[in-house]
Amino acid sequence: MLLDNKNALITGCNRGIGKAILTTFAENGSNIWACVRQPSDEFETYIKELSMRCDVKIWPVFFDLKDSDQVKSAVKTIMSMKKPVDILVNNAGISYNALFQMSTIDKMIEVFNINFFSQMIFTQYIIKLMLRNKNGSIINIASSTGIDGNAGRSIYGASKAAIICATKAMSTELGENGIRVNAIAPGITQTEMISDMTEAVIKETIQQTHLKRAGNPYEIARAALFLASDISSYVTGQVLRVDGGLG
Ligand code: NDP
Repeated sequence: MLLDNKNALITGCNRGIGKAILTTFAENGSNIWACVRQPSDEFETYIKELSMRCDVKIWPVFFDLKDSDQVKSAVKTIMSMKKPVDILVNNAGISYNALFQMSTIDKMIEVFNINFFSQMIFTQYIIKLMLRNKNGSIINIASSTGIDGNAGRSIYGASKAAIICATKAMSTELGENGIRVNAIAPGITQTEMISDMTEAVIKETIQQTHLKRAGNPYEIARAALFLASDISSYVTGQVLRVDGGLG
């Protein structure tokens, strides 16, 4: 129960890594604002069962990162609950595979809007709440490709490199206020996100890992658990690679 009595805010809880983080945090005693794009019966049922099983509160929050009005109104809802936000996990994101010369400006803007700008604006709002308590752990889900730079991933990788740089800068600015800021750089992980990669690219990437396999979303979630909990109380400004030994 590493997160007993903590309140965590996680984006992109609907599936993949975000859903694994939601589940892992609930199993470790955290109450959670579970952010998803749209309501669905499946998600409602999932969080109801999870909150009962783990005896924690899970509050669904709905917003699309592309829509600044929705982001603002979600923040208002969270603020109105007058609970401290101890943990923020910026997990939601989109992928984009294209050779650099084939990358379009519309896609570049979309990728940066979702993977970087909207997350930074959301984080600015949430930091205001964290500052009130002089406590917080922010975890940004980046990517190994944001460090390594891989063919076909220039724009997506650049959006993740931007998150990594912001993580380090935020850490230096916020540390004296008790707020830690770290990033996780997952390698290839079995979620819907990799469905836009060809079998050949998946195989080749797996071959490059020391462990010769793709990650499981729960292996990323356990790294987030470490960074969210007090056992990492002296860790900030770091990028934790969870990639089976890539690069
Ligand atoms: P998925 O595609 O499975 O999940 C992405 C999540 O982000 C979904 O819940 C999706 O919501 C949400 N999302 C996407 N766009 C928006 C938006 N505009 N507003 C709000 N939510 C949105 O991917 P993963 O779980 O694999 O990815 C999670 C994070 O991990 C991402 O940041 C990704 O870049 C990163 N990552 C993933 C790797 C991998 O191999 N899987 C490797 C490295 C990093 P909805 O369900 O409504 O579509």
